[in-house]
Amino acid sequence: MHTIHIEKTARVADKYDVVVCGGGPAGFIAAVAAARLGASTALIERYGFLGGMATAGLIAPLSVFTYNGEKVIGGLPWDFVERLVGMGGGLVEEPLGNIAFDPELYKLCVQRMVQEAGVKVFAHSYISGCRQEGNEITHVIMENKSGTEALEGRMFVDCTGDADLAHMAGVPMQPQNGEPLQPASLIFVLSGVDTDSPLISQAMHHNRQGVNCHCLPIREALLARQQELGLPEFGGPWFCTLLHDGTVAVNMTRVAADACDNRNFAAAEMHLREDAFRMAQILKEHFPEFRHSYISATAVQAGPRETRRILGAHTITAAEYLNAVRYEDSVSRGAHPIDIHVANGPSQGCHFLEKPAYVPYRALYAHNFPNLLVGGRCISADRQAFASLRVQASCMGTGQAAGVAAAQCVQSGKTVLQADTAMLMATLRQWGAVI
Ligand SMILES: Cc1cc2nc3c(=O)[nH]c(=O)nc-3n(C[C@H](O)[C@H](O)[C@H](O)COP(=O)(O)OP(=O)(O)OC[C@H]3O[C@@H](n4cnc5c(N)ncnc54)[C@H](O)[C@@H]3O)c2cc1C
Repeated sequence: MHTIHIEKTARVADKYDVVVCGGGPAGFIAAVAAARLGASTALIERYGFLGGMATAGLIAPLSVFTYNGEKVIGGLPWDFVERLVGMGGGLVEEPLGNIAFDPELYKLCVQRMVQEAGVKVFAHSYISGCRQEGNEITHVIMENKSGTEALEGRMFVDCTGDADLAHMAGVPMQPQNGEPLQPASLIFVLSGVDTDSPLISQAMHHNRQGVNCHCLPIREALLARQQELGLPEFGGPWFCTLLHDGTVAVNMTRVAADACDNRNFAAAEMHLREDAFRMAQILKEHFPEFRHSYISATAVQAGPRETRRILGAHTITAAEYLNAVRYEDSVSRGAHPIDIHVANGPSQGCHFLEKPAYVPYRALYAHNFPNLLVGGRCISADRQAFASLRVQASCMGTGQAAGVAAAQCVQSGKTVLQADTAMLMATLRQWGAVI
């Protein structure tokens, strides 16, 4: 392969105190947090709606806000949950603290929250690069139908899930140490399901503490006949309510894939779509609860469980995480099991925590990058700690911390390394974060 050199001129569309990249669970919370503190805030998202893997990936439920009934993720993320529930789009699965949701109402709820907070949303805009002076980012570059545009910013928050901005800025990433990435899955929605049947009505509510919520009877039946049925690689299956009778989101397909490798991921998605239809047919033919079911939707994109994470000022280790080490700069929590799906095959390591864990502020930035924070799936954690922190409530928690820190750094004129962590923690506590 050879390369060519291109030069482009980008129109500077506007200037903001804080530019948040990626409008998923971490990003929309980060943007609302920064705006609430008075920072002029932009949010850039490649799709025409917000919510990230919750809405584009149809990944349900939102895990987990409580641990043994004790709230661990509070503040803006919980405000969002309450508002979604109030709109009829969310259901708190007691006692576990998973949130079942309607993806369409989720999109609407997020949109209202960011607009009310005064966040400027740049939708249908793909982040393709950045301009830097040394390691300081001055502009983020995005491509959309209006052409190549730049947004100038004082602080940047990378919530792209894949650490796209950090990668483009030259931030070092966590080593993979030869271990395969966790697999990707394409979620599909089945309608016409007998959701009143005892088997499905129980399986689709993920509310049992200390238990993997997959549908064990169907899993065992499928494993026993996998070859005979021509059933592709599968996980779970997890059936997830979308709050409408007769409909469940099915988390079952899986393939080893790297979402940061364009050709690899595109091919994996085609493979997964074939698998989804094969699986739907097998469920329909062999389980009476699915006799009248059909695929009514597949997710906009396959969900990658694992991609790039930054090598931050501090990397949360499994030992710290499992021992619930409380840091002097703790800014968020994690309560989900350490949940590692094998790349090829149906198995999954699911290690339940004995205590909810903590996340230090130092895991949200890298040394020598003075105006860049990260939130969500790309924070600095080793593979085990990450396998718990990757879930959506934890991503919202780190998004909230990154958004507050970004706004406070703008106000104080400090770099992310110099941030006043006492003030950051005080604001988070005042908002209801349990740190
Ligand atoms: C199969 C599967 C099952 C899962 N199960 C659960 C579960 O049961 N419970 C749970 O809570 N979590 C689950 N997760 C994990 C969870 O969904 C994600 O880890 C979480 O959504 C990450 O949030 P985030 O905000 O960091 O990133 P994302 O949700 O990935 O959001 C990133 C956003 O950035 C945008 N973006 C990315 N790159 C660019 C770019 N270059 N330009 C512009 N925009 C960009 C994306 O479009 C997206 O909106 C699961 C994940 C998978 C894949």
